[in-house]
Amino acid sequence: MDLRLRRPRALVIGGSIAGMLAAAAVREYADHVEIVEAHELPDGPQPRAGVPQARHIHFLQTGGAEAVEALLPGTIDRLLAAGAHRIPVTTGMLVHSPEGWYRRWQRATHYLFTATRDLFDSVVREQVLQDTRITARPHSQVIGPLGGPGRITGIRIRRPDGRESEEHADLVVDASGRASRTPHWLAALGITGLTEERIDSGLTYASRLYRAPAGLRNWPVVAVQADPGGPSPANAGGILPVEGDRWHVSLMGAPGGRPTGDPEAFEQFARTLRHPVFARLLERAEPLTGVSVTHSTANRRYRYERLKPWPRGLVVLGDAAAACNPAYGHGMSVAAQSALARVTPCQPPVRVRTFMLAPSARSPAASTPPGLCPSDRTSTSPPPRARTPPPSTASSAATSAASPARQQAPSTRPRPSTTSCPCKPRPRPCSAPQFCSLP
Ligand SMILES: Cc1cc2nc3c(=O)[nH]c(=O)nc-3n(C[C@H](O)[C@H](O)[C@H](O)COP(=O)(O)OP(=O)(O)OC[C@H]3O[C@@H](n4cnc5c(N)ncnc54)[C@H](O)[C@@H]3O)c2cc1C
Repeated sequence: MDLRLRRPRALVIGGSIAGMLAAAAVREYADHVEIVEAHELPDGPQPRAGVPQARHIHFLQTGGAEAVEALLPGTIDRLLAAGAHRIPVTTGMLVHSPEGWYRRWQRATHYLFTATRDLFDSVVREQVLQDTRITARPHSQVIGPLGGPGRITGIRIRRPDGRESEEHADLVVDASGRASRTPHWLAALGITGLTEERIDSGLTYASRLYRAPAGLRNWPVVAVQADPGGPSPANAGGILPVEGDRWHVSLMGAPGGRPTGDPEAFEQFARTLRHPVFARLLERAEPLTGVSVTHSTANRRYRYERLKPWPRGLVVLGDAAAACNPAYGHGMSVAAQSALARVTPCQPPVRVRTFMLAPSARSPAASTPPGLCPSDRTSTSPPPRARTPPPSTASSAATSAASPARQQAPSTRPRPSTTSCPCKPRPRPCSAPQFCSLP
């Protein structure tokens, strides 16, 4: 075999959203991508032990959906076909902010995609694992890196039978979420001085699923925000319509007003919100599950970019690198955009903005897979769309102390044309030399 023709092998730690999307991003550059996941990877939208936060409301924002679509064309259509909702911002939202109700714009430029997290993950997983270049190894825990401070050359795995093995790779992507061990692994390799930034608001989430009342099944997203300046604890709540004619409901409480896992107390807590609409809606809906609680809501960011030297062959992505307070509702979107931007740094971004339009108005670029240039196809694209700054969405809406609903008129400033080919190679600085410099 001519070793000069050998293409890299990549290993991804963690088979959740960041890991799956990282595998999708890296497959163009590698012969084989293996995802190593500590827990099960079920067929279909089943709960997973590795993602306990799935029991709480999750929505995908426009920017995240665009990145997912760029990496895995067709995913959003599959999600919608499986029952996910596409909620126009703010037209399809009832949000009560400290400043009153959000204005509901007539023209939507941004969307929230709502579904259970199990559905998001299963659709992405299915899309990724149908690629023969990618395999997954469930029930296998990564216990450490191989290599030294100059280069990571693989990982050590505890296999399902309890035995340990070594797997070598040219690239290791850590997408193991908040539980990431990379800070410890780097320290053990002698790479010290990592800064951790942490801001914990002490927010608690309590969530359960309801059957939506008949007649209210195409209901908008409902959120009652906290008023941080108000006299009572900053309690908040969000109702998302999800697949299967269900509502996913989360209540959030700051210290002093924390919701609990007691099902009897759930609706009682809903009555403490600043507007009665929330509790009244729940009175009409049928609970389908118990109540799940999490306190794992702190903002935590590792400043890896400041570490010098950084071992070649290692990328850290998703919550493993930076986990945000779920109030912002953008962890999955950040993971998707990071996979697109960081793991494929040498490839100019594929522009897919127009895919967010109604299906009938999509441009050919919408379904162009990464690596194909939209302008290489017969172009019938509509003119560039004006871009509107997104308003605060249900998440930040529900809990934000700092950003009460800011009502901005849609901007009419046109975006730069997207018709120039973004895929033609052009030199630009590489932001992740550890991968770009692979053999
Ligand atoms: C209450 C709550 C609500 C949220 N709401 C939203 C929302 O509305 N919208 C949004 O975009 N985001 C939301 N988020 C954030 C979102 O859940 C995370 O940002 C996202 O899951 C990060 O994905 P990830 O793949 O990086 O990590 P995770 O999803 O946490 O997955 C990590 C994976 O790595 C595996 N793993 C861990 N260690 C190992 C190991 N040693 N070996 C092998 N595998 C390992 C785990 O089993 C797991 O599968 C919310 C979070 C919370 C807590």
